[in-house]
Amino acid sequence: MGLNWHPSDDLLADYGAGTLAEGWSLAMASHLAMCPDCRAAAIALDAIGGAALDSLPAVPMTDSALDYALSAIQDARQQQPEPPRPASPNAVLPPPLADYVGGDVDAIKWRSIGGKVRQCILPTTDGKASARLLTIPPGTAVPEHTHSGQEIILVLQGSVVDGDAVYGPGDVQQADADVTHMPAAGPGDVCICLLVTDGPLKFTGLLPKLAGLFAKL
Ligand SMILES: [Zn+2]
Repeated sequence: MGLNWHPSDDLLADYGAGTLAEGWSLAMASHLAMCPDCRAAAIALDAIGGAALDSLPAVPMTDSALDYALSAIQDARQQQPEPPRPASPNAVLPPPLADYVGGDVDAIKWRSIGGKVRQCILPTTDGKASARLLTIPPGTAVPEHTHSGQEIILVLQGSVVDGDAVYGPGDVQQADADVTHMPAAGPGDVCICLLVTDGPLKFTGLLPKLAGLFAKL
């Protein structure tokens, strides 16, 4: 069964080029592990990038040019993310997330952030985007908010409902400073999702107590 919500092509291209901060890269690798369509698109984008290089005009080369080109290719290879591995059918966490956590959901060290919402921060080495796993009981909402930066939610279990949109396991919700929304965990299974942000959330609704809770994010 295909997924309904995918990351933007820009994000996919930046992931393939290896230019994303670690938090975004983790979200992309995790989505790719869960999404055959985006895995195929990533491979196609990679091929287009290679073809574009092939079509560059030939220039006379000095002896050192080849060494230079080879070392540039080597550098580019080292920066490129690992090719995505598909998620195993019984695991909740796709391989890139399981690597961070050291296992599947049972290995996640949850900390309560109030109510029944719990989080597990995933440390990133570059500190440019913060990544965390959240577990949210069915029907519980994140207060309405906008963003000072970018936000990605990747659903891993259960669902996230936002307006008319329903996001299931593997689906990605991408939001930025232009979006005001109030996502909530849908009915059924407890929602587990990955949240990546590069700026604090700004709350606009009238739920100061809950907002205070989520302001710690
Ligand atoms: Zn996808």
